[in-house]
Amino acid sequence: MSSGDERYDVVVVGARCAGAPLAALLARQGLDVCLVEKAELPSDTPSTHIFQADALAFLDSLGVLEELRTTGAPLIARADARVGDVRWPADWPVRTGDPGGVMSVRRFRLDPVLARAAQDAGARLLTRTAVTDLVRAEDGRVTGVRVSSATGGEEAGGERVLRARVVVGADGRASTVARLAGARSYHVTPNQFALFWGYFEGAEIGEPTFVFHRWADRVVLGLPTDDGLYQVQVGVDPARLREFRAQLPGSLLEYARASEPVAKALAGARLVGEPRGTTHWKGYFREPTGPGWVLVGDAGHFKDPTAGRGIGDAFLQADQLAQTLAGQLGGNTAELDEALRRWGAWRDAEFVEPYWFAADIGSLAPLPAVLPEVLRGMRRAGVADSLFEMVNHRAMPTDIVTRPRLLAAVGRLLARGRVGVLREVVRLAADDRRRRALARSPQYETVPPSVR
Ligand SMILES: Cc1cc2nc3c(=O)[nH]c(=O)nc-3n(C[C@H](O)[C@H](O)[C@H](O)COP(=O)(O)OP(=O)(O)OC[C@H]3O[C@@H](n4cnc5c(N)ncnc54)[C@H](O)[C@@H]3O)c2cc1C
Repeated sequence: MSSGDERYDVVVVGARCAGAPLAALLARQGLDVCLVEKAELPSDTPSTHIFQADALAFLDSLGVLEELRTTGAPLIARADARVGDVRWPADWPVRTGDPGGVMSVRRFRLDPVLARAAQDAGARLLTRTAVTDLVRAEDGRVTGVRVSSATGGEEAGGERVLRARVVVGADGRASTVARLAGARSYHVTPNQFALFWGYFEGAEIGEPTFVFHRWADRVVLGLPTDDGLYQVQVGVDPARLREFRAQLPGSLLEYARASEPVAKALAGARLVGEPRGTTHWKGYFREPTGPGWVLVGDAGHFKDPTAGRGIGDAFLQADQLAQTLAGQLGGNTAELDEALRRWGAWRDAEFVEPYWFAADIGSLAPLPAVLPEVLRGMRRAGVADSLFEMVNHRAMPTDIVTRPRLLAAVGRLLARGRVGVLREVVRLAADDRRRRALARSPQYETVPPSVR
């Protein structure tokens, strides 16, 4: 080890939704933390930014919610939901003590608030500094990172080494830490819809409402975000992508207006800036940990963004990982590795059901008719709003689409002569069996890490 190397308890790579709160929580427990971020902050990142009750409670406990509210983003208590041909007005489910149901804050505003919380807690933040390599002991254990700082900043000065007991990769989907550590991906699922979004001023917002409409081959989301803007997000079938792109921004508006409440909100509104979009991504889990390293947030797991859960899930993982690390960093490495292995097993068990649910919501295949029928039954029973507990990550899909509800829905559809539902149920059961088998023995992506 060179005498010029800096030493920390933990080096966290990536300072957005996963890395910054993790660094804040660790530093608050007295650990010496360095948070390394290759971008300048504030800066944007290609992501929409809807988060739910669990995330709001986390942000509140982190002490940053009031600051986020000064952006003008409202706390949203109402939803206008549509799944297939079932549409209903919903109260977003919250628990006692929750500050709110849903919120949307653009990332160039949200992320710097999180990074500042880490700094305020005592973490050292190095921006415009990229991790270029992992440093390893002779036995292969990761003991630090090599970083390269961009010139011109306070920390300019070329390459140096930051040593740590643990290196956390919170560096997103193209994670350098995952690649260098050789973490393999599994449950890999390419996207089906492309996603496009834009912001409108002068929208008729009224009572702040989260519109979530998924029907036929359409996905339309609309809600107020920060600065008085109205955010619209649509899913586009890749077969129509060329035409959609050629007709932007009109095509975004046309898609959005197919949803009645979004059309109403946008009457008289004006698009601000260019629409944005993303056409290719993959959902995955990556091996979560190895000797001296661990992955958190998108670095270790990404799911279809239609469900809007990446930010909240990054917070949940950071929270759990902070507790794991704070309890183990003083002990021996075998105990630390075992604690991180258990954390990784928790991550997989916790997010596998929502992962496949998000893949289904983001699938181009028509929604199974049984799903709206389950919701119809739940509406009659007055419990349809509990669907959103899934989006709060407070219920699993199997807690909502239960076997009795499924059987009752199948029975009602059969009674109406919809015998095709039996084929659907056979296919859903086969998907379920395949996914359970994959959870027991994952299939790893075979692409070499260097070209991932
Ligand atoms: C189109 C789209 C829409 C989405 N919409 C939503 C939504 O509405 N709601 C929601 O909850 N989630 C949404 N998500 C998911 C959400 O964006 C992610 O889950 C979330 O950003 C995860 O945060 P993270 O901190 O893990 O990663 P990121 O936000 O990607 O942050 C990683 C950071 O690591 C830094 N970094 C990378 N490599 C290095 C390196 N070598 N050295 C130093 N730093 C490095 C990057 O600069 C970056 O700042 C969406 C995603 C996409 C793609």
